[in-house]
Amino acid sequence: MAPDQRLYDNHGRLINYVRLAVTDRCNLRCFYCMPEEGIQYVSREALLSYEEMLRLMQLLAGMGIEKVRITGGEPFVRRDMIHFLRDLCAVDGIKKVNITTNGTLTEKLVPQLKEMGINSVNLSLDSLDSSRFFEITRRDAFDKVMRTYQALLEHEIPTKINAVVMDGKNTQDIIPMAELTKEDPVSVRFIEEMPFNGEGAHYERLAWNHRRILSHLQERYPAIEKLPDPPHSTSYNYQIPGYRGSVGIIAAYSRTFCGTCNRIRITPNGMLKTCLYDNGVFNVRDLMRAGATQEQIRDTFLEALGNRAKDGWEAERNRSFGMPVTESMSTIGG
Ligand code: SAM
Ligand code: SF4
Repeated sequence: MAPDQRLYDNHGRLINYVRLAVTDRCNLRCFYCMPEEGIQYVSREALLSYEEMLRLMQLLAGMGIEKVRITGGEPFVRRDMIHFLRDLCAVDGIKKVNITTNGTLTEKLVPQLKEMGINSVNLSLDSLDSSRFFEITRRDAFDKVMRTYQALLEHEIPTKINAVVMDGKNTQDIIPMAELTKEDPVSVRFIEEMPFNGEGAHYERLAWNHRRILSHLQERYPAIEKLPDPPHSTSYNYQIPGYRGSVGIIAAYSRTFCGTCNRIRITPNGMLKTCLYDNGVFNVRDLMRAGATQEQIRDTFLEALGNRAKDGWEAERNRSFGMPVTESMSTIGG
């Protein structure tokens, strides 16, 4: 199917990728994402229904969206997620469906993910040490996550590991995690910590930015090689000579990749975010529930993308009432 109308923003960037956060609920409490007591969850009625999400994805596919990432909250805490994924994989025009998961509920579903043609899975794992994992996530789930990791490898689903690098918490894990790429054909990506922890920024400055993470890797692996980065990549990619996998560094806080951004985000309650750092542009759920036609919804997307911030710094400055970033990443999807 050729798209009827491609989505470009006012900076000439083609938008062909949507990140859909299917729930804000989660069974972990990663301290960089959610406070210990959790967050005020969106009511069930306020969440986009599966039917609404499918309608939206069909509409966006008609505007040239080819890739969807399912994220959350934890996608697999939402009931019947596997059926929704199957329907999503069948949407005409959607070529890639990827998932980001914490891996706690995923192991048993891996064969089904493989069978329906999920393109790749990003598994969030910040430590290879079970007690540090517990300290970070506040839940005892390390073994479950590792079993999911093994199942993904056994089923040959392309897998990336997302590790947030946190000063004083898990920097001793950087090298052991890079060592995973020696035998396993995975990409281990080290992510700068962002202030989306449900409480507000807690650092004056970021101690471990992308440069420091790279120097740390270079100190241990002086021969580490730069790989070419795929178009629109958010990671700087490297390989340790002789290793099967690769390592990546994501400058999520430093925002060095905005110039080639091809993505939009839909939050669990249907807000469109044209940037991770904005605080929502319009609510597509409200439009759909008010009976808007496909054309009206399409026009609203075109208008929103016609007013997109140049980069994450501008988006953050433009937040209404100068509100600082305090929300939990589980309400956005990362
Ligand atoms: N629950 C799923 C998971 O953890 O994979 C999906 C949602 S989670 C919000 C998506 C990604 O955002 C995870 O890889 C997580 O590590 C990352 N993330 C969450 N809060 C973050 C923060 N404050 N800074 C950087 N990355 C963050
Ligand atoms: Fe849950 Fe993912 Fe946030 Fe951790 S990062 S609390 S797993 S949504």
